[in-house]
Amino acid sequence: MRILLIEDERKIANALKRGLEQESYAVDVAYDGQEGYGRAMVGKFDILILDRMLPGIADGLDICRAMRKANMHQPVLLLTARDATRDRVEGLDNGADDYLVKPFSFEELLARIRALLRRPEQTADTTLRVGDLELHPDTFHVQRAGQRIELSRKEFALLEYLMRNENRILSKEQIITHVWDFDADILPNTVEAFIASLRQKIDKPYKDHPLLHTVRGFGYRIAV
Ligand code: CA
Repeated sequence: MRILLIEDERKIANALKRGLEQESYAVDVAYDGQEGYGRAMVGKFDILILDRMLPGIADGLDICRAMRKANMHQPVLLLTARDATRDRVEGLDNGADDYLVKPFSFEELLARIRALLRRPEQTADTTLRVGDLELHPDTFHVQRAGQRIELSRKEFALLEYLMRNENRILSKEQIITHVWDFDADILPNTVEAFIASLRQKIDKPYKDHPLLHTVRGFGYRIAV
């Protein structure tokens, strides 16, 4: 899952980026309103963490408003320094989905992100399932036919992205966009290498029922 973080306080931004990457999110950071606005409107992220007070032409509320006006529906988590009712209401009125008041605990931020990324039909159970393959985003647990599978962080992020898009063909470019961040130097054959190692782990022991499919010339798809 890919996160766009717009936060002008570099210390906070960099600490959040490091922490979120440890949790296997791909994180892009913008340090001011103008850059943040540009990145936000490109839309290549799954969730936006947005500081409300930003220097530059656009503050957090402007960015949020512009996204909603452009019919962009990615979840927005607003960070605000003030715990005033008016500020919170203003944020939610301008299209934010949730807010956190600084200072907040990293654990709470993670919980809010998980809640916002949960699809409506998965509210009761966050487990992703494709056939007999299960992935638990909250605990990093993956199993197939009841057998636990050990994955690296990147393999886990890749599998989660594929499973959240069950039956959809995902191009290498889409995979790079959602699983790696802008700064990472990723080549299409890096994706191939990760797909190959994932396939070894989730499909090889179950050769008769592969779940990870290569669609020649288009990309990859996970399906029963
Ligand atoms: Ca700020």
